[in-house]
Amino acid sequence: MPRIITKDKLLQLVAQYLGEGKTVAGPAEGSRQLYFTKIKKPEELVLNAAIMPSNTIKEFFFPRCETICTYRHNGKEQIIEDAQPLNAEQIIIGARPCDAASLPILDKVFAWDFQDKFYQDRREKSTVISLACSAADENCFCSSVGLSPDTSSGSDAMLVQVDAGTFEVRVFTDKGEALFAAQTTEADTTGQTASPPPVRFNKDSVAAYLQTHFGDPIFDETSLRCVGCGACTYICPTCHCFDIVDEGGADKGKRVKNWDSCQFSLFTLHASGHNPRKNQAARQYNRIAHKFNIYPQKFGAVLCTGCGNCTRVCSASLGVRPVLEKIGQKGEQERN
Ligand code: SF4
Ligand code: SF4
Repeated sequence: MPRIITKDKLLQLVAQYLGEGKTVAGPAEGSRQLYFTKIKKPEELVLNAAIMPSNTIKEFFFPRCETICTYRHNGKEQIIEDAQPLNAEQIIIGARPCDAASLPILDKVFAWDFQDKFYQDRREKSTVISLACSAADENCFCSSVGLSPDTSSGSDAMLVQVDAGTFEVRVFTDKGEALFAAQTTEADTTGQTASPPPVRFNKDSVAAYLQTHFGDPIFDETSLRCVGCGACTYICPTCHCFDIVDEGGADKGKRVKNWDSCQFSLFTLHASGHNPRKNQAARQYNRIAHKFNIYPQKFGAVLCTGCGNCTRVCSASLGVRPVLEKIGQKGEQERN
């Protein structure tokens, strides 16, 4: 039997979480756009399944800048202190399903050759309540990577809009059940989700083509539009490159992990001056090959949820979708 919750009841629950000292983050109006942010009052939440926020929930697990440790001198003594772990439980509400689906994919790399306790601590203390999409645009391609507008991957529970004042509640994990236990009522009505966007390419054909076409001329052509701004990587829920920098002076300072981008020329610049990825074509090949060939070989998952953010944010409307469509066509031709 479907379970439903009214919007008023949901906001009362959010008020309760905030009152218990939990961090609650969700889409809220920023100065100009809808933005995932920590909220102070339940009324700040904008739970509209048709609007896409202009950032992703990635930053609540892998912050843009994160202090790893601090250092200081006390006379001749050097004192290094680890950063404190997250001390509050966090609830992410209103995540897009394609955003939440990035988390199980990222779990693999953050628990690989190094156990990233910062990321893992945030994952353990977080509950993700996603909001099923009620509309897809021309940049969405979740169905091309095996997902859908109401995919459950990475979500502990999901809200599906029934009408302006009611949501269907789908619960997938014990964490999700703990939040909604005794808060929903049974009903014979279900929420409406968007129709899946069309499958725009075959991901296996893309992977096969990338394996045998290192530095393909397609990238020379498509990258002419790319200015190397890196916006596509920062808005991507699955991109996870970072740099580690010491900030401060000889007496005291901190070691900080900052987001980085493979689309920056400095990303692979050697101290000698040599750069093995010497232009945007090489950087774009690397980004797409990493997502669709290398990561799947290593971790068994495509490093892309088809959210379309990278094309929406790109001043040249590039991102990965237009390139994947071209590669997919080439790959299909070679396979047939
Ligand atoms: S593809 Fe677009 S968003 Fe990405 S680096 Fe190039 S210009 Fe910037
Ligand atoms: S590569 Fe683009 S479409 Fe894929 S997850 Fe990242 S932002 Fe979304």
